[in-house]
Amino acid sequence: MSSSTEEGRTTRPIIVVKIGSSSVVGSDGAIDSASLSKLAAEVAACRNDGSAVVVVTSGAIAAGLPQLGLRSGQVRDAAVLRAASAVGQTSLMRAFEVALGAEGLLGGQVLLAPTDFMLRRRYLKSRGTLHALLELGVVPIINENDAIADDEIRFGDNDRLAALVAHLVEAKKLVLLTDTAGLFTADPRLDASASLIEEIAEIDQTLEDAAGGARSAQSRGGMASKLAAAKIATWSGVETVIAFAGRTNVVLDAVAGVPGVGTTFRARDQRLSARKLWIGFALPAAGRVLVDDGARHALVDHHRSLLPAGITGVVGKFDADDAVEIADGAGVVFAKAMVRWSSTEIELNRGHKTSEVPDHLTDEVVHRDDLVLLPR
Ligand code: GLU
Repeated sequence: MSSSTEEGRTTRPIIVVKIGSSSVVGSDGAIDSASLSKLAAEVAACRNDGSAVVVVTSGAIAAGLPQLGLRSGQVRDAAVLRAASAVGQTSLMRAFEVALGAEGLLGGQVLLAPTDFMLRRRYLKSRGTLHALLELGVVPIINENDAIADDEIRFGDNDRLAALVAHLVEAKKLVLLTDTAGLFTADPRLDASASLIEEIAEIDQTLEDAAGGARSAQSRGGMASKLAAAKIATWSGVETVIAFAGRTNVVLDAVAGVPGVGTTFRARDQRLSARKLWIGFALPAAGRVLVDDGARHALVDHHRSLLPAGITGVVGKFDADDAVEIADGAGVVFAKAMVRWSSTEIELNRGHKTSEVPDHLTDEVVHRDDLVLLPR
């Protein structure tokens, strides 16, 4: 057992390692035990080096479908996919138990849902469980609770889940293992001159456009979802590395920051709160609120709340508590926020002074605690 702080949090640096379906399950649909053994050996080496390790794994659905005589990529029925995950998750944990056991390690399954990050009480409970597992020397093995996942609200891919877990446990590093060496200047399959981008200081729109949306039949991720995850993690103050799962010592080297191990995304100095992280990056925008220059200035430079007087327009239909984009007069989206008014209430009262709006509405259309400024 390691030393811990009063709250039971381990004092060792925590590394979150995410492994995708294509590394966990072979093209024949069987769990790739060699790949899991390699990961387990790396987890053991990392722990011997003084880190605590959390694993986020995919592969439940990919492993479950063939056991039910079904093929990956062909099933669209959400209930069948949920059922397949229930079957596959069991096999996955059995395989992890064997692989970790060979290293003298014990794994513990934790299945998470988005509400575990949205609701403060559940957030604290999940964090407490993960810290207790680490403190007991167990390797937490996390996946989305696919069997009962709500199709309307789900992580969608485990890259994002891993990034939120990295925030939850205040990880030192997030390592996203995948089937390419990292992020390239162009698609290396199409362009021979493509080279690995070793370090990225800030994820911007150009980079996101370049990442496109390559996905394989088995996994939901792709470079776009890895970038989105890296954004969540770096905005949580967690350095992120995307690297090739098959590389020798990939986890150890990523933790040590060995040059060329993959693509490293530098962490931001400021760590967003879980609530802001959720609003900024996990909730899809249901519409857009347009504001004048004065409101933009108040939000960006003075960190104020958004009042109806500065609103010039609204796009889309949404309810109170939905996430929206905030755009300026030139149409540039500069923030993401959770609104306290519906689109209809905004449309009816925009441009008005706070004293003129009906009593049942809050003064702020967006409270400053619910507003996330995006990089310029
Ligand atoms: N949670 C899904 C599974 O285990 C995978 C999601 C993903 O591919 O990122 O099957």
